[in-house]
Amino acid sequence: ELKLERLSKDFGDRTVVRDLSLTIPEGAFTALLGPSGCGKTTTLRILAGLERLSHGRLTLGDRLLADDSTHLPPEARHMGMVFQSYALWPHMTVAENVGYPLKLQKVPTAPRRKQVLAALEVVELAAYADRSPQELSGGQRQRVALARCLVSEPQVVLLDEPLANLDRHLRATMEQTFREFHRRTGATFVYVTHDQAEAMALASHIAVMHQGELMQWGAPQDLYQHPQNAWVARFIGKGS
Ligand code: ATP
Repeated sequence: ELKLERLSKDFGDRTVVRDLSLTIPEGAFTALLGPSGCGKTTTLRILAGLERLSHGRLTLGDRLLADDSTHLPPEARHMGMVFQSYALWPHMTVAENVGYPLKLQKVPTAPRRKQVLAALEVVELAAYADRSPQELSGGQRQRVALARCLVSEPQVVLLDEPLANLDRHLRATMEQTFREFHRRTGATFVYVTHDQAEAMALASHIAVMHQGELMQWGAPQDLYQHPQNAWVARFIGKGS
């Protein structure tokens, strides 16, 4: 399980995440849901190790990832992150992009190619291995970014608004890809979105955030049927 205990993050004198506590079960598909500026991305970056926490404690199973005096670097966390912008390198082929994390780990060329093709199979893009990412559509690039994340077999997959740049038709297709990807990897997913419908459709667990604080944590059904306060009720779309 991924455990956040009273996580806080200050930027200067502003607290953008305050006392956030969550225990995310292994294999859960978790959404961090809330309006723009509520601290979702900052939380995700803290999980990834791209941002230091100001206070609190973060553990994955029995491994301490971060606390007031510890900061495990991103590459030591067994996590993969997919950014909104996909962050693919245009001067590398699809296969080189996907294989890059393995290259950093000094995996030799032949086994690397094999692992890359296996990851591209999962996202149904093996045929595009030697193309440039620039020849691909938005949805295909997104799938390349997923394959790159998958290739190092992360325990935790972090996704920052991965569907935000896609049109409605593609979003529906990609939601299906995420479900399938989640099922096949068995990894714990943490998925940032401001879109209630998307979170309700995809997630097994939802953390609703507002102004840096956790408003409610539960299954989609719970949030819908038993919102803990008026803000959650309004945000989830039930109350008046
Ligand atoms: P969005 O959906 O718009 O990305 P979010 O919920 O992901 O919003 P964050 O990106 O986590 O929110 O930002 C939370 C708050 O922290 C915002 O008010 C933002 O301006 C502030 N913030 C984020 N990063 C920094 C930084 N490096 N320095 C100062 N303030 C920051």
